[in-house]
Amino acid sequence: MATPSTLLPPTPPAPDRRPALLGLPLERLAAALAPVVDRPFRARQVHDALHRRAVSGFEEMTDLPKELRERLAREFRVGGPEVVRRAPSEDGTVKYLLSFADGATVEAVDIPDGERRTLCISSQAGCGLACKFCVTGYWGPGRNLAPGEIVGQVLAIRRDRGLPASGFNLVFMGMGEPLLNLEALEASLAVLTETLSPRRITVSTAGVVPGIDAMARWPRRPNLAVSLHAPDDERRSELMPINRSYPLAELLAALERYPLERGRKVTIEYLLVRDFNDEEADADALARRLGGLRVKVNLIPVNPDPVLGPAMVPPPDERVAAFRARLERRGLVATVRRRRGDDVSAACGQLRAFGRDPKGFRAGLHRPAPAGPAGP
Ligand code: SAH
Repeated sequence: MATPSTLLPPTPPAPDRRPALLGLPLERLAAALAPVVDRPFRARQVHDALHRRAVSGFEEMTDLPKELRERLAREFRVGGPEVVRRAPSEDGTVKYLLSFADGATVEAVDIPDGERRTLCISSQAGCGLACKFCVTGYWGPGRNLAPGEIVGQVLAIRRDRGLPASGFNLVFMGMGEPLLNLEALEASLAVLTETLSPRRITVSTAGVVPGIDAMARWPRRPNLAVSLHAPDDERRSELMPINRSYPLAELLAALERYPLERGRKVTIEYLLVRDFNDEEADADALARRLGGLRVKVNLIPVNPDPVLGPAMVPPPDERVAAFRARLERRGLVATVRRRRGDDVSAACGQLRAFGRDPKGFRAGLHRPAPAGPAGP
């Protein structure tokens, strides 16, 4: 006979109150460890293990005495995600489904490109901005990630792919709006820039003006990219509800006062949607609005997805080329973003954390992660 306890849902596990170490730069790590470790140089050892060797747990810190490892494991947690699934694309891109202790999931992507490599990470486990062209927005908001959870995505990919601590680019272009998780973003950058130059890091925003102004005050700024996507408020608001809070004039004014180092530019991301914003007249209007700003334009032919409906289709290649040529003729630097990993829904705007989307599994799009690390 069923007892009442078998009929009730299981009690959720008690939240893990041990502080996470991944969100702490060396100095703060040393302060946190001070009451626990026997020698001052232990902090450097732990920091190297976490951020240079990218170990996943204290048991792997074999240069520490066993007793200390056990003590650390009782008092702290590492705080990074677990790789739940790995979806390798035909083109070498690998999408990761990562999960945190409370069950929140995000996706992050490794994008090798010849000698170059870009890691794309998430700042929130979902997104509340509801941009019409973005699958993450379609699935709705999720919680902010903690600094260690942001840093941990980079470490999880590095561990899986055997990558060193530098020599790649890092973009905050995965799930979420980084400038709506500003404090954690800044804290994660303090750790990430211990090993990676801020010039290698790009934060992409949908146009959160107070966040841009806050970034302007940071002493070590990463590159800034802004999702613009339309040359006028009417069409921008249609694509991006956030434009009603921060319309184009305010957004462009924030870019005008944004401090840039010599030779640096803000990246303007412009999504190209067939028969919506892809006319040469739109290129002219865009160039006019951007006149006088230190920017370069990255054109992104929209990546379609079944949940986005039939309007979200990219223009034909010739039209993309014509749009680009038109911008260049008006003196703007413009590039076209190549689509990567779309066969496994790893391309821009296709991240949904596929644990949340059972349809993806049934369609057989995502192969389960093989056991053990894979080579690059
Ligand atoms: N919230 C931030 C970062 C996440 S989106 C932002 O809005 O910038 C990262 C980039 O992917 C943005 O430029 C976004 O506009 C783009 N993107 C979103 N959906 C897309 C889609 N379906 N096809 C192509 N690019 C898309």
